[in-house]
Formats: sequence, structure tokens, C-alpha cells
Amino acid sequence: MREVGPTVSVRIHGAAGEVTGSCYEVITRGAHLLVDFGMFQGTMDQEMRNLVAPDLDFSTLDAVLVTHAHIDHCGRLGMLPALGFNGPVLVTEPTAELLPRVLTSSATLQQLRITEHRAGTAPTSRVLAPANLATAIGIRTEPPPVLFMHRAAERVGRAIRALPFMVWEPIAEGVDLRFLHASHVIGAASIELRVQRVGGGDPVHVLFSGDVGPIANPLLAPHQWPEQTPDLLVMESTNGARRFQQVDQYQEFVSILKETRAKNQRLLLPVFALGRAQTMLQMFARASRDGVLQGMPVYLDSAMASRASELYARHPALLEASVHRACMRGTNPLHFPELHTLMSRRESESVDRIQTACVILAGSGFCDAGPILRHVKLAIDQPDTRILFTGHQLDGLLGHGLLAGATRVEINGAALDVRAKIDRIAGISGHADADDLLEWVKRMGPSPATIALTHGSEEARGEFAAILRASVTSDVRLPNVGDTLAVD
Ligand SMILES: [Zn+2]
Repeated sequence: MREVGPTVSVRIHGAAGEVTGSCYEVITRGAHLLVDFGMFQGTMDQEMRNLVAPDLDFSTLDAVLVTHAHIDHCGRLGMLPALGFNGPVLVTEPTAELLPRVLTSSATLQQLRITEHRAGTAPTSRVLAPANLATAIGIRTEPPPVLFMHRAAERVGRAIRALPFMVWEPIAEGVDLRFLHASHVIGAASIELRVQRVGGGDPVHVLFSGDVGPIANPLLAPHQWPEQTPDLLVMESTNGARRFQQVDQYQEFVSILKETRAKNQRLLLPVFALGRAQTMLQMFARASRDGVLQGMPVYLDSAMASRASELYARHPALLEASVHRACMRGTNPLHFPELHTLMSRRESESVDRIQTACVILAGSGFCDAGPILRHVKLAIDQPDTRILFTGHQLDGLLGHGLLAGATRVEINGAALDVRAKIDRIAGISGHADADDLLEWVKRMGPSPATIALTHGSEEARGEFAAILRASVTSDVRLPNVGDTLAVD
């Protein structure tokens, strides 16, 4: 809050030229807000950045607004009480249902990692061969940071307030907020702010894209666009340098499943609990209906993914039209007879000795921790194993190494030859590609005065900036952490 200066200032505190750590501070004449408070993820250096709080006075924030329940957008919310914030955390209804659990399980995981580190049992993985891929990443010498404890996560959980999509809500002096469906994961929103101009006149509109899903999302309802072109658009650019081929991913998927069944193989899929798990479950449900699975069990080794999936069925209005109609007829789009959910470590271990063809979906999606690492360790040196990657892999982590052609790896201290077949289906993403990102901007009508590209690698946002400059009249900026964007 301040007496003079522009109508709105947006200060960038993360996700500038990188894909994690989303955090933006909004300052107006009458309000002080934070949009997202995400974790930096990936290497140890990235994780250590989480310990350094953004340089701002959290006690003066009127509210914290969160686009969606992915860790890179919400993972540091548990730090808010210790930083002096006592206000509301404003989110959409599905996110309000997910977020408390995401935060408490994150607190549990942070504690567990410290305990494991002290006991020498922390999950580790690295590539041993070939030499050009070998990396020490994943072998920790320092304990991982603990950002917040359970009690803080629960306190933030109690501060969460759910708001409906497409309804303006006054949230601070001179500022209204509206959530727009972003078609990324259930509950994901773009955040539109309408700020009164000092001395009158048209209000200033600022839009934070959050993560933007593909234009034709097979699972989620289409995006909602603002009627009023924003003066400032702060926009993600994760896939700004990619164009997904219009290949038939389903046919590729089906042929992998058929071979898995025919050759009596074990198919492992690293997935994230929110988003990728549901995208794949929808494809499995279709394969089940098409008679491809024929009783081959599909194990979902993630209680969180199972709960997130239930949330999709509970919000049918947010689903794609045909999926919505099926839901109204009582068909859960993410259920099929071959699906079994493993809710505990014991249940997870119960599938270890299965000799017949089966599929296991588990996290982490980067294949470097969580139950998938255990499943991979057990089976990666067996020729009847296959590991299917469907998502972007972070450089330096095990999934990236396997896709790049690792022949020998070390997992939790055991050196193992890679005899598993490594499969990849490209082009499945919860993020819009370059064409869809451009389409998303163009559907707003006139070009926004300023577009600030964030949440993408330097390469991705650089390439997308060139595409934008050739297509729209906006002033396209590539801000760095610490930069401020002003709108008068
Ligand atoms: Zn996301």
C-alpha cells in the first residue's frame, strides 16, 4: 500500500526465466497482494532458494491469491504464518478442497526427508553410464531444507477461502478479483484483477495466466477469457518453444499396452498426482472400454492422485462437454474395472511379486523419488520391464537420464544395468504449446498493452516472445526476479 506511484505495480519474485517458484507481488494505492507462492524445484541449489523469503512485508498483505494446487505455485504457502501473514488465502472451490492436503502432506514429506537423510535412507538416484550422462545430482551431501511444519500447514489450511469461477469479488480497497478457468488441472485458474484508477476513469485490468492448459483439452472444460483485454498480462511460457505434433497419441499408447499384455511385461508410468495421473487415467479408461486392457490390472500407487481424481468427478461442470455428459449419466471418466488404487506402502509392496502383465502409475513424475523410484529399482534391470515417460523431465534427474539413454544407474545405493525398455509418448502436456498460447492471447480480442512472459526457460520464453512480437501489438517483456512492472 502506498500514497503515490502507478495505479498497479507487479513485482516478480520467482519463475522468471525458469519453470518453478511462481510468486508475484501486487501493489496498488489501496492494496497489497501476493499471487502464488510456489516452490523452486529441481536441483539442490534450486531447493535451497526456497529458504530465502521474497523481500516484502508479509504482514501488510491483504490477501494471498493462488492459481492452482501445483507445488511450483503453492508449495511455500506453509511459510506464511512464520513470515507474519494473517490474512485469507483465496482460491477456487476445487483448489480449496485440494490445497490443505497438499500442504500437510508436503510438511510430512519435508520432515520425512530430514529423518531419512539423518538415517542415510534418503532416496538417491543418478546415472553411472554412459560417462557423458553420468551426474552426481540426486546424491545429497546437505540435508534438504524444511520450510514449514505441520502446524503451519494446518494454519494456512484454515485461512483458505473458496471463491466461484467468473464472479467478481471485492478483496481489498479498490481491488476486485475474478477466477477464470485455465483448463490446466481441476480448479486451476487465471486470476483477473480490476483495480480502481486514482482520480477515476476506467479501471486497470491485470491478468495472471497461472498455468494455461491446451485449447482442446480432452478432460477439462475450455478456458474462460476476460471480456476486457488486460492492460498487463503476466503469462506463463513453459511450452513457448514447443509445437506438439498432431500425432495420434492414443494409438501409440494402445500399441504399448497391447505389447505389454502380449509379452507379459510390467509397465511403469511416472506421473504427478494432480494432472498427469488424471490425463493418463482417462486414456486407460478409454483403452478399457475399447477392450485393450482385457483384465490387465492398472495400479495407481498414489493416495493423493486417487483423491484428486475423485475431485474431477465431483466438479462435472469443469469437465469437457462429452465427459461432463457421461459424468451426468453416472460414468466416472477416470474409473474402469481394471483400476486398483494402492493407498499405503504395504499395498504398494503387495504388487512387487506379480508375475503377470500389469501397469503401475506412481509418483514422482520426475522418477527421482516417491513410490515410482522403488518400483523402478525393483525392475529396471529386467528385460520384461518397460518405463513409459509422458511428461517433461527436469534436466539432471533420473527420468531425464533414462530418456537420454542411460545404460547403468544407481538407485538408493544399488548399481543397476538398464535392461528395461524406455518408452516415450511425446505431446501430452497439461500446458498449452506455442500455437495454443498464441491462440489463448488472441482470443482476448485487442492485444494487451503489455505482456510479461514468466514461468518458462529462457529459451522457451525467448522463442515465444518472438512469436508474440510477430503476431500482436503488445509490448512483450521478459522480466527478471526483482523487476517491477507498472501500469498507470
Ligand atoms: Zn501447474
